[in-house]
Amino acid sequence: CGIIGYIGKRSTKEILLDSLELLEYRGYDSAGIALFPNGADEPTIRKIAGRVSNLREVCGDVTDEACAGIGHTRWATHGGVSDANAHPHHHGRVTLVHNGIIENYKELIKEYNLKDQLLSETDTEVAASVLDHFYDGDPETAIRETVKVLKGTFAFAILFSDQPGKIFAVRNVSPIVVAMTDHGALLASDVAALGVHAKEYAFLPEYHVACLSSKGIIVHDEKRHEVPLQLMTIDWDT
Ligand code: GLU
Repeated sequence: CGIIGYIGKRSTKEILLDSLELLEYRGYDSAGIALFPNGADEPTIRKIAGRVSNLREVCGDVTDEACAGIGHTRWATHGGVSDANAHPHHHGRVTLVHNGIIENYKELIKEYNLKDQLLSETDTEVAASVLDHFYDGDPETAIRETVKVLKGTFAFAILFSDQPGKIFAVRNVSPIVVAMTDHGALLASDVAALGVHAKEYAFLPEYHVACLSSKGIIVHDEKRHEVPLQLMTIDWDT
């Protein structure tokens, strides 16, 4: 339902939690974050059924010293409302959050023999598992192989355990916006989560792959050519 991602100089944890609160107006039943502590081997995940205020409580021990983070408010479509079904979902070297519906998730479970490794009832976890299956150290190739086999709607924000300091994003139908600010790079499902930080933003085109890092935001089209961000101004008066 709501997605946020941040790489920058400020407290990743606080930016993620505050932004999830800005997305609360869309409605949701669970919330979660994954953030990559500096020097860690993999992201730390906290997720919980209920409000962002509940999530904030279980994030008390999570470090502020992080090189990247993603967050999600879930509106359950596949699988009940539970801590296990909340996002982010983690498989192997992949941690991701998802808006939308993977319609062929049952077929994918059979095709990739995933039944025994799934920890939740969600369509999203199947996508995380398939992405990990294709991942061989090259995020963009794995993302492109994965979206080829997915049917449905999706916006994904993705961390790879061996790519600290980077967030990848791809989408079909469900929106993703990205923005550079003076303190870091942000992505979100909705411009409402960006406005306190950014004056300009860009929509990620469908099936383009975005990579956010401390150096900026790079977007590749389906042929892997870099495309410039089409910046729009956030105008809060209208
Ligand atoms: N289909 C996913 C789920 O049920 C994502 C729902 C959403 O967009 O929040 O977990």
